[in-house]
Formats: sequence, structure tokens, C-alpha cells
Amino acid sequence: MSGLSTAWHIKQLAATHKIPLHLHVLEADATVGGNIRTEVVPHEHGQFLVEWGPNGVLDSKPETVDLCKALGLENSLIFANEAAAKRYLFVDGRLQQLPGSPGAFMRSPILSIGARMRVMREPFVKPLLVDDESIFDFATRRLGIHAAERLIDPFVSGIFAGDPKELSVHAAFPRLPEMERAHGSLIKAQKAMKKARSKSVDEGQEQAGPKGRLVSLRHGMGQLIEALHAKLSAEIQTNARVDRVRYFEDGWVVERESGESIDRIDKLIIATPSMATSRILAGLERGFMQPLQGIDYSAVSVVALGFNADDIDHALDGFGFLVPAIENREILGCLWSSSIYPGQRSPDGTKLLRVMVGGARAPRLALRDDDALLSSVRRELGDILGVHGDPLFTRIIRWTNAIPQYGLGHLRRVAEVESLCEKWPGLHVTGNAFRGVAVNDCARESLVVANRALGLSRGAD
Ligand SMILES: Cc1cc2nc3c(=O)[nH]c(=O)nc-3n(C[C@H](O)[C@H](O)[C@H](O)COP(=O)(O)OP(=O)(O)OC[C@H]3O[C@@H](n4cnc5c(N)ncnc54)[C@H](O)[C@@H]3O)c2cc1C
Repeated sequence: MSGLSTAWHIKQLAATHKIPLHLHVLEADATVGGNIRTEVVPHEHGQFLVEWGPNGVLDSKPETVDLCKALGLENSLIFANEAAAKRYLFVDGRLQQLPGSPGAFMRSPILSIGARMRVMREPFVKPLLVDDESIFDFATRRLGIHAAERLIDPFVSGIFAGDPKELSVHAAFPRLPEMERAHGSLIKAQKAMKKARSKSVDEGQEQAGPKGRLVSLRHGMGQLIEALHAKLSAEIQTNARVDRVRYFEDGWVVERESGESIDRIDKLIIATPSMATSRILAGLERGFMQPLQGIDYSAVSVVALGFNADDIDHALDGFGFLVPAIENREILGCLWSSSIYPGQRSPDGTKLLRVMVGGARAPRLALRDDDALLSSVRRELGDILGVHGDPLFTRIIRWTNAIPQYGLGHLRRVAEVESLCEKWPGLHVTGNAFRGVAVNDCARESLVVANRALGLSRGAD
């Protein structure tokens, strides 16, 4: 996504500004798309659409939707069912609805009365302005340990498949310390933002979960990759793993693992995962290695299962559920794909579930063999959702390096990499390892980098 959308923006901007361009996009795999891929699983009454990676983006940030529109995909955009605003947590051994308003929060048994009162005291907790702090410490300090364990922990695993005790709140959720800094309290900040919003728009009903609607494409997120691929087909080379790069007076030389190379390159943008970026740049300057290798990745296995609707007791009336670590279960959570986009992801009379396993805290669970993984997932689904009967199909998608973990010191590492890049003419790095892991973040960064590389913005070459 990062590489393709940067290439697309470069091509567009070069055409608009009449900048001569000879573009090469080198992809190590046989197919493009990285984390984004949609698999079609045929069924006698239609088909299942299985997302290997992201299942959508939030339209509260415009970048991906704008990109889709620019690629001519406007009529293919689909929005999550309104019922998907309902989200569940598995706490105290059962599914409980995540409250969507302060009133519902005060009535919800997800936290004990004492823990709820502790959350309500948050505006009186003195702000602590530090440079870096773990998400868990931040949440415990502001909201109390029970809220950190039961609400914040699953939220973090839903986005990063990460360990809140290891992740930096400043890097992973920069808005939270910013809210504390500006308003002295998260609750006060939320009230102020709500007031500002309600002046301009009627917000409608309160929702649990993030603001904005979840958006995808009729044929899945893979449709975005196909559209980018089609626009860049002349420039993309697949099965073209880059081994290293070198810099000479007449430009960059990009050497492929196969021994082939491309020379006299003016601008070089590297959009690979941080370990690969480190390998590619190590020969240029060893200083790149430490900060890049300091960015760990979590291992996640996605297990997709199709069922006859009758084989699931739960109504699946929502987005899905997440499981806090303190529950000690073998899954991180489960997305109810057929409920999120009804009629779009599974044939009538069937249901599609996607279960996340592993993450930074329990990578060994993700790395078990297929039989062990599948039987544990089926056991958990049986217990939690009342799933019985055999699945119509199963898929196991293994991401050994699924999502970069923005650990303590992440912002310093990013600054170090960026300042090293500045020493080398025309060199830029991007990708989800640096400034946000959501597809929207990758789309936003790709436009920034494209402008910078073409000399169209501040910080340009
Ligand atoms: C299971 C899962 C679920 C997710 N769900 C969501 C979601 O619902 N919403 C959301 O917004 N985000 C989600 N994300 C995150 C989002 O999908 C990713 O952060 C984003 O797609 C990453 O894009 P990227 O291009 O930066 O990296 P990648 O997708 O990792 O792409 C890097 C590319 O570099 C290539 N490459 C590697 N080494 C080399 C080399 N030496 N030479 C050439 N090419 C190389 C790789 O083959 C790959 O194509 C999810 C991620 C995962 C794994």
C-alpha cells in the first residue's frame, strides 16, 4: 500500500507539474499489495470474500477514500452496516456490549462500580507531561488499572496486536498525551471536542468504538490494490527483491537479489518493512541498522471460517469482539465480517468469521501448526459464540511480521532514520513502520513523501 500509493501520487504529481519521470516500482513478491489481499472462496450459493489483512478504513480520515475516488472506485465503496457500531468485549467469561455513551458506561458491568468511579475521577488526576510512556502506564495513571486492563488492553490488541506495557502512547496514540497536555484530562478534552463538533454538525447517536464509518470496497480491500496495480502496470516489476542500494555521483544504483540492477536513479523511496529497509540500507550506512532493527513486529495468524448461519447460536449483531489479556483465552478477538458488510462477504444463509490469534504477547499461539491452531480457534468459538457444526471452509493466513510495534523510544528511532536519510540526496523511507499502521496513515504518508521527493513541499530535496 505505502509503495504503490506513493508511486501513484508521484505519477499524478509529475504529470500535473510536467516533471519528466521514469518510474520503477520493485516488489519482492509475485503479487503486489503486501498486507492487503482479498481472497475469493467459492461456495455453491455464491462466494466468501476473505480479507487477509485490513477489513476496511475509517472515513473520519479522508486519505484512503480520496485515493479510491481518484482511482475511479467511488461506486465500489461500501460502508459498514450501522449495526456494526455495536462492539463487544469478552470479559468475566462472557460477551458484553461496549458502552457507547457516558450513561451506558455508568450502567455497564464491564467495570466494577469502584473502577467506573475511578474513571469518572479522571478529570481530577494531575497531568504528567513526560516525553515517553507506555500505553498501559498512561491508561493506569489516568483511568485506573481496571480500565487499563479491561478497556485499553483489548483496544490496543485490536489495532497493533500489541502489548500495551511495551508500546509507546506518544508514538502509537499521540492524540491521547496531546489531549492530556491541552486539556489536563482525557474526559475534559472529549467534552471540549464534542462541544466544538456539535456546533458544526448534528452528530446523531453515540457510538462505541472509533469515530467515523468503516469503509471498504465491494470486492474487498484487494480491489484498491488491483486498481493501483492497473494504473502502474508498466512501472511495476514483481519477483524483484531489492538486496541493497549504493550511491554514486551520477545517482543511486538499486541492486536486486537476482543480480540485476538499475542505475542513475535520482530519487529513491524505500517502502518496505523496517527489517527489509535495514538490510537494504546497511551497506550504505551502518547507522541505519540500530533504529530500524529496533522496530519489532508482532506475529498474527488470521483464521477465517465460513459457517451455515444455523450453526452459530449468537446473533452476531455487531462488529465482533475483543478479548482482554486478563481473560487468558487463546484468541485476540473475532470480526463478524458477514455482519459488518451484510450481503457482501458471504452467501445468503452463511456467516464469515475472522479470528485473530497471537500478537506481541502470545506469538507462540500464532505460530502453532494448522491443526493445533484450528482446533483451538474452533474450541474458543464454540465457547464464546456457541458455534457448532463443521465450518464450510477454513483459511489460515500467517503473518509472521504482521504489524510494527511502536515501542518506547519509537519517535526517537524515527527521527534518527529521517535525519540519516537527509544526509543522502534523494533518499526517502516510508511505510507502516514509522508514522501510523492504519491504511489511512500509509495513504497520508505516501502523499507527503511523493510531494517531498518531487520537490513540491517543505523538506523537499
Ligand atoms: C491482519 C492484519 C489486519 C489489519 N487490519 C487493518 C484494518 O482493518 N484497517 C487498517 O487501516 N489497517 C489494518 N492493518 C494494517 C495495514 O494493513 C498495514 O499497516 C498496511 O497495509 C501496511 O502497508 P505497507 O505498504 O506500509 O507495508 P506492507 O503491506 O508490509 O508492504 C511492504 C511491501 O514491501 C515488499 N518488500 C519487502 N522486502 C522487499 C525487498 N527487499 N524488495 C522489494 N520489496 C520488498 C513486501 O513484499 C510488501 O509488498 C492490518 C494489518 C494486518 C496484518
